[in-house]
Amino acid sequence: MMIRFAIVPLLLALNFSMCKKRETASQNPQSAGALSPAPGATAAPPVAPSPKITKPVVDQTAQVIIFCYHRLVDKIRYPGTEITPAAFEAQMKELKDRGITVIPMQDLLAWKRGEKNIPPRCAVISFDDGWKSQYEVAWSIMKKFGYPFTMFIYTEGVAGGSLGGGQAITWEQLADMRDNGVDIEAHTATHQDLREGHNIMLASPGGKRTKTKLTGPQYEQWVRNEVVGSKELLEQRLGIKVNCFAVPFGNYNEHVKELARNAGYEAMFTVYGQPITFTSPLDSIGRYAIEANKPKVFADALKMIGTSSGGAAAVAEVGAKDLATQPADGDTVRTALPLIKANLSGIGQIEPGSVQIRVSGLGVVPANFDPKTGTVSYQVTQKLRDKSCTVIVSAKSQGKKVEAHWTFGIEEGATGGAPAAKPIATPKR
Ligand SMILES: [Zn+2]
Repeated sequence: MMIRFAIVPLLLALNFSMCKKRETASQNPQSAGALSPAPGATAAPPVAPSPKITKPVVDQTAQVIIFCYHRLVDKIRYPGTEITPAAFEAQMKELKDRGITVIPMQDLLAWKRGEKNIPPRCAVISFDDGWKSQYEVAWSIMKKFGYPFTMFIYTEGVAGGSLGGGQAITWEQLADMRDNGVDIEAHTATHQDLREGHNIMLASPGGKRTKTKLTGPQYEQWVRNEVVGSKELLEQRLGIKVNCFAVPFGNYNEHVKELARNAGYEAMFTVYGQPITFTSPLDSIGRYAIEANKPKVFADALKMIGTSSGGAAAVAEVGAKDLATQPADGDTVRTALPLIKANLSGIGQIEPGSVQIRVSGLGVVPANFDPKTGTVSYQVTQKLRDKSCTVIVSAKSQGKKVEAHWTFGIEEGATGGAPAAKPIATPKR
């Protein structure tokens, strides 16, 4: 926006704040119920003809993080909405390296409807506002990785519109993206605060813009065009179905939500980044806005999904049997102070500093690793209190994290007096 209006300094300042995605959280996303799905979207998961209750087909523990980008430029001038192509590409690569699957927005929605399964840890990539650099730069990077993505377009900002300047994407470019499977969704008509009584800019016929506050029927007409009119325009110009609505600055309220719901939007998006779960309300889906001046946001988002219970796709699981663990999986020991041992030699080259043992009730313990034999061990020094104990051994091998979990029992009344006691031979499996 600001570049599109590079002539008038006053507008520059105004539009700069418009572009900035560091929205002041003047309204928190409501945790109200989900938007009613679009027609035909309420179908339940396919049910077998038998009267038996079938398991849901989707993984309800999966999680999704959604990213929102703006302009890709080599020289950052507006770090609030720009990122360099190199930094962007590095982030796309990091998703891949960490085993986070980039899925289409429509897969996320199908999963929320219970119609389609998704991998345990996913990301959705979106680009806001419709900049030429998204077509010219971002798209080729996305192609390189084979990633799907969504464009959130405000219709007056497309080239030829009242807010579309030299850096704006064109309708032809959008059509090209559409033809190649890019998802195109709505982001209002003029990209402003949608709540009644807020200052907005109105374009008058001469191209002049005036600042005003709309209320009553005038406001209703205006906001309808922003929410509904922009959807219709995108659908008509591009011959597509639009079912997603990104709210400028995340500023909305119940009235705006209702308008969106009635217009047939299935989901509304804000910029309050958070991992999306199966139960996250569809009318306030948070996205992480990634900007050059906030590199931590991307790292934090990965951390959020990385530590979630959504899955551990980046970790290779190894059977405890293959590690000849002691005590063995399923065994019961007579001591509350057992010696825990595993042999990692079968895993391959282990990075010595990477070996770690976690013990339930204790956390990470100071284990010993002998690189010669590949054996990792820990003598429990603090009595285990539970009837069963789970051990997680992890290590890095050729850059990949490998993990093994197993559980053994502790005989009731076991004391710490016999740490060397042999496990009772009661194979449970
Ligand atoms: Zn925007």
